[in-house]
Parts: sequence; structure tokens; C-alpha cells
Amino acid sequence: MVAKGDMLYAWASTEEGVRKGECGGAVTALLKYALESRMVDGVLVVKKGSDIYDATVEIVTDPADVEKASGSLHCGTLLLSKILTKYLEGANGMKLALPVKGCDTMGILELAKREKINLDNLILIGLNCGGSVSPVDATKMITEKFATSPADVVKEEIDKGQFIIIKKDGSHKGISIDELEDEGYGRRTNCRRCLYKIPRQADLACGNWGVIGDKAGKATFIEVCSEKGANLVEEAAASGALATAPADPKGIAIRGKVEGAMLKLGEKWRKKDFSALSDKLWDTIKEETSRCIKCYSCIENCPVCLPIEAELKKATTMVPTGQIPPSPMFHMRRFAHISDSCINCGQCEELCPMDIPLALLSHAVRSEGDATYNPKLGSAPYKN
Ligand code: FAD
Ligand code: SF4
Ligand code: SF4
Ligand code: SF4
Repeated sequence: MVAKGDMLYAWASTEEGVRKGECGGAVTALLKYALESRMVDGVLVVKKGSDIYDATVEIVTDPADVEKASGSLHCGTLLLSKILTKYLEGANGMKLALPVKGCDTMGILELAKREKINLDNLILIGLNCGGSVSPVDATKMITEKFATSPADVVKEEIDKGQFIIIKKDGSHKGISIDELEDEGYGRRTNCRRCLYKIPRQADLACGNWGVIGDKAGKATFIEVCSEKGANLVEEAAASGALATAPADPKGIAIRGKVEGAMLKLGEKWRKKDFSALSDKLWDTIKEETSRCIKCYSCIENCPVCLPIEAELKKATTMVPTGQIPPSPMFHMRRFAHISDSCINCGQCEELCPMDIPLALLSHAVRSEGDATYNPKLGSAPYKN
């Protein structure tokens, strides 16, 4: 019997599923089983769009289509929580299973607290996450540091501290993430500061850390985080869709060490980024936001900023209309809205056409508060 707290290795029971999966295809097998068994009405997957720099989202209702999304994409610009509220009525009318990174999970939980997402209708299959790369930065990095045309790359991976590209001709090239980041390339800056590497608030937390021996690269380490997750794994294994084995105790210890090292690295980046702002946060906000063209993208794409759009665009005493750049109060009002809930997902910054480091600024403000306030961000919603 599978129970909350269990740690196991898992992989797809078909050879094709193992081959297509990033690390043995367990996540795809679980999503497919959830759909086939009618536990859910649909599966929300992240799959390659026009190329590997274009991660897109699709709702799949035919189990045969789930495998088309096998594999990890590290270079897209997406956050699944906002997609659930914007296009899927917060999963109110439909049961869904979906793979989620730490920031997706945090956004979903914050929106559930605001009653914008119905958690009862979701099965969250968490993915450990060492970080992602913006599509624009990825193509620049591949051109300049890997001396390769981005169009020649058919797959990218982040493994053992390296960013690795695989080219059309089958050749590989890997460069250490530390080296890339020292030279201004590498992961998104918010990902460097992220401390949510194993998403234990999801129903399952899945990843490759801790898979050792002959299963390395061919299985996923699953930490069972809820009864819902335990039920899915148990039923999928009993049906023959998923193969499992107990996790190797040495693997469990290694996974703990890797997580610890990643958290330490995240703290290092926080210290570096925030101390650079320490006595000039306000001046930096004023200077950086003076480039703002008031396009509203930062507001529309933030998972925790929930303004009534028509109200927001009206003139107010503090934020008159018709000014570009807008009054600094335009930004202060937004920071005030999100100062208790910025999850450092990076969407505002990445989608700002004027390259204003918005996530850095909100995260700096929020991190001060997070040291003091409860509940911590990304924690499960309060139960009445
Ligand atoms: P598969 O069966 O191949 O299924 C993968 C699923 O992930 C698919 O359903 C696909 O839709 C979904 N997916 C792909 N890209 C994304 C995305 N960007 N956002 C949300 N869902 C996506 N594991 C670690 O142990 N350490 C890490 O540092 C680590 N970093 C990761 C970073 C990213 C951005 C991602 C997406 C995953 C990362 N993982 C990490 C998890 C790991 O790569 C595998 O996803 C996991 O081991 C499951 O493998 P699998 O073969 O069972 O998955
Ligand atoms: Fe992964 Fe954290 Fe970056 Fe989200 S913010 S992509 S969870 S590292
Ligand atoms: Fe994400 Fe920016 Fe909103 Fe923070 S303010 S939650 S980083 S979009
Ligand atoms: Fe201004 Fe950038 Fe926000 Fe657009 S996304 S309103 S330019 S800060």
C-alpha cells in the first residue's frame, strides 16, 4: 500500500514510455492513468510549440495524446496558475491533473486561498525544479557561449550542474551553470533566488535527484505528499501502467544533500541581489520604473495580482491617467497589492517590454515580510 511520506522510484511500464520520458516517463504514465481511469476529465500538459524555446500548454482529453508532451522543457515562459484562472474557471467545472513546478504550485495555492481555484478538482504532480531559462536568454546563450545556432538544438537538459544542449547531428555540449551564471547567462534571476526546489505542497513531488544505480536516468524519484497522490500512484501501479521500487536509502540521502546545496545557492543569490538594493530600494524603484510605458503586462500576468481591470484603468487621486511614464504611485499601488503574496515567479519581469526588474523589486519587498509573517507563501490554504 502506498502512503503519504513514501519515497519510491517509478517509471512507465512500456519501453516506449520509458524512452520518451525525461526520466523514465512516470509522470506521463500517471497523467495518462488519471485520464484513462476517469479520475480526471482532462490533463493539462506543457509541450513543445514551434521549437524547444516555445513551451505551450494544452488540455488533453484523449489518453493517447498525453505522451506527446513527454519530456521537460526548461526554456518556456509560462506559469500554470494564471492559466487555470484565466482560461479554465479555476478548475471549477472540470477535474484536472497537471504537472507543476514549485512556482506553479505556489501560485495555485495562493489563488486557492483567494477562492479563485478549486483545489478539490486538481491533482498536482509536482516536478522538482533547479530552474528555467528565458527563451530570449537561452537563444543568446546558445549562440554566444555554445557557439551553436539555436535552430540546430533539438533538446536541452539541466543535469549535474550543467546546461546541456543536444544538436540535430546527435552531438552534446554541456557547460557548468556556475560558469554560465558568472558570465551573466544561465537561469532566470528569480529562479536563482528560488527556495522551492521540491514542491511538497503538490500531491506528488517528482524528479531525478536521488535516483542512483541502474535506474539513474531511467526512473523518477517520487515523494508521496498527500493521500490523493498516494491513491494515484497505488492505482496506477496496480493497473500495470506504472512500475515502482522502493527508493535506495543512499539515493534518499543524496537527494537530501542536493536539495540542501540548491537551497544554500538560493540563499546566496538572495543575499547578493537584495544586499545590492539594501539602502537604495526606493531610489531603484523610482529610477527603473521611469521607463514604464504603462502597458499593464506586469499586472495582467501576475498570478497574485487580482485587480478589477476596469477600475484599475480609471483615474484615481493618486494615479492620474494620461501620463507616460505613470506616476510612481502606479507601481507603489501594485507593490502594495502583492506585498504579502509575491511568489517570485518572475512573470512580471520577463514580460515587461521595458526590462524593468520587477520581480527583483517585489521579491525584495516580500522577502522581508516572509521572514516574519505566517502562513508562509505557498503553504496550504487555511481550512475553515
Ligand atoms: P515525463 O514523463 O517526461 O513527463 C514530464 C511532464 O512534465 C510532461 O507532462 C510535461 O507536460 C511536463 N513539463 C515539461 N516541461 C514543463 C514545464 N516547464 N513546466 C511544467 N511542466 C512541464 N528534477 C530534479 O530532480 N532536479 C531538477 O533540478 C529538475 N529541474 C527541472 C526543471 C524544469 C523546468 C522541469 C520542467 C523539470 C525539472 N525536473 C527536475 C524534473 C525532471 O526533469 C522530470 O520532469 C521528472 O523527473 C519527471 O520525469 P518523467 O520522465 O517522469 O517525466
Ligand atoms: Fe523552478 Fe523556482 Fe524558477 Fe519556478 S521560480 S521555474 S520553481 S526555480
Ligand atoms: Fe510573480 Fe512578479 Fe507577481 Fe511576484 S509580482 S508573483 S514575481 S508576477
Ligand atoms: Fe510598466 Fe513594464 Fe508593467 Fe508594462 S510591464 S506596465 S512597462 S512596468
